[in-house]
Amino acid sequence: MIKISHPDLPKLAQEHYEKLKGKIKHFPTCKYSLEEVMTAKPEKLHEIALQYKNDTSFDFMIKLYGNFTNQKEEYDAYELAEKLKVDVCPYCNRNYTFTVKSNNASTRPQFDHFYDKATYPILALSFYNLIPSCPTCNSTMKGTKQFSLITHVHPYEEGFEKIAHFSLHVKDSSFYYDEKGFDTSLNTQDARVQKNIEDFGLDKLYEKHKDIVLELIQKAEIYNESYIDELFDRYEGTLFKNREDLLRLVTCGYVSDEDLHKRPLSKLIKDISEELDLI
Ligand SMILES: [Zn+2]
Repeated sequence: MIKISHPDLPKLAQEHYEKLKGKIKHFPTCKYSLEEVMTAKPEKLHEIALQYKNDTSFDFMIKLYGNFTNQKEEYDAYELAEKLKVDVCPYCNRNYTFTVKSNNASTRPQFDHFYDKATYPILALSFYNLIPSCPTCNSTMKGTKQFSLITHVHPYEEGFEKIAHFSLHVKDSSFYYDEKGFDTSLNTQDARVQKNIEDFGLDKLYEKHKDIVLELIQKAEIYNESYIDELFDRYEGTLFKNREDLLRLVTCGYVSDEDLHKRPLSKLIKDISEELDLI
């Protein structure tokens, strides 16, 4: 999982509230104002969730969320997705989630409710409860599983960048040319991260990407440090503006933590490339 990075999330959260508040004529009396509920950051979302679990007086928020996703509203899920610019699913870092809107062919990320809307209807439209994600993670893997800030990592709070790592385990000398010669694993010491890994099936899904790992093993042999230096000396300022540009070409992934969200599999590529001393 990769942290959702956007330079001004509080501003987007406030706009989200301002554009939707007119749709809610009578917000039931509760401990929190509509604005607080709609713009609550993850920690506060958790506080609200604990107090208003299964409160059916907020069921109308689920219906309003349905309207928000049906493209008939002035401000809808497409507009929010466009503003967030989350182009790769933060939960899995495997699938692109571009937003494209045209007359006959539109697509956008689905919005997962971190606190599911059936159990917590009060949070059905809350900005930080809406996680742009791919259909596999939202509909197939997560479904109605219960998530909370205590049991899982919330992508608006943190990602796996520093708290989980892919590793390579060589089994025999065929690993240079055969996927059967090695295994990969996704490891963490954090129980919440482990729960994310299990609930999204990330350990099993990433076993399907061994072809990428095999290529990295082969590239690490070809692109040794002196060859990388030679290429950089030859093309600096013409093909590559810096060494990171060259490493991206070699690995086919972004190699700094702040860029991992830009391309699928970047976290896998970065961790394995580091282990192989490719970067
Ligand atoms: Zn996903």
